[in-house]
Amino acid sequence: PPIAGLPLEISGLSKRFGGVLALDGVDFSAPAGSCCAIVGPNGSGKTTLLNLASGYYTSDAGSVRIGGVETLGSSAQKIAARGIGRTFQTPRLVADLTALDNVMLGAFTRERANLLSTALRLPHAREEVRRLRKEALGFLDFVGVADRADTDAGETPHGQQRLIEIARAMMGGARLILLDEPAAGLSMAELERLEQLITRIRELGATIVIVEHHLDLVANIATHVTVLDRGTVLAAGKPATVFNDAGVMRAYMGE
Ligand code: ADP
Repeated sequence: PPIAGLPLEISGLSKRFGGVLALDGVDFSAPAGSCCAIVGPNGSGKTTLLNLASGYYTSDAGSVRIGGVETLGSSAQKIAARGIGRTFQTPRLVADLTALDNVMLGAFTRERANLLSTALRLPHAREEVRRLRKEALGFLDFVGVADRADTDAGETPHGQQRLIEIARAMMGGARLILLDEPAAGLSMAELERLEQLITRIRELGATIVIVEHHLDLVANIATHVTVLDRGTVLAAGKPATVFNDAGVMRAYMGE
């Protein structure tokens, strides 16, 4: 089914860790249905931005609006329930649950109350679980790892674990998906499949924000690119324009 992508609008976002100003008044926006990449050297604040947008950190100053609603200061659970899903650099799955069960857990962000009430009415629960299982298998198939459905998540390679996280986010009804370095450690063949997968998720209508070092991937899939350098926006615009900017390339060389 189509996904009604949510827009993300960040303005004046700052975050300090002790003496380190990880983000210094950052503006960033991802229109509904876009694929916006955040690139930049290590330590430039990319993951911090994702953590603030998804409610894992609170900020010192600024605004984060998702679907037009201010979410800065809301809990990660509340933000997830609004339709924001994410993946992590180091995947966060329940290692000793199967891939399928991990994806099914995604349903909790979407309909926690429903599931609980269902579990209390047993005859209904069996049907409900069967329905959720089928849906979860559909998402695993969509991301290309249906053959791993019954494997413990901890026993699949990291690249596949990130795909399972994408399936879990989709199961949770995510309309804005934040991907933190999904291409890290992937083979060329896996990279190509990731590129196709992100394209298909966008075709469904979801908004994607991707932090990624793999600039070829970014050039192929991103509608917008923002370059962070030491917590500030160094450049932003269309991939072709940004990647031709000499200052941007110097920031990378200086890494
Ligand atoms: P990037 O994702 O671009 O590599 P990060 O957002 O991870 O950069 O980090 C930006 C800066 O903030 C770095 O100097 C990093 O050391 C610091 N930082 C990030 N998270 C924390 C944290 N939880 N505690 C202390 N410092 C942090």
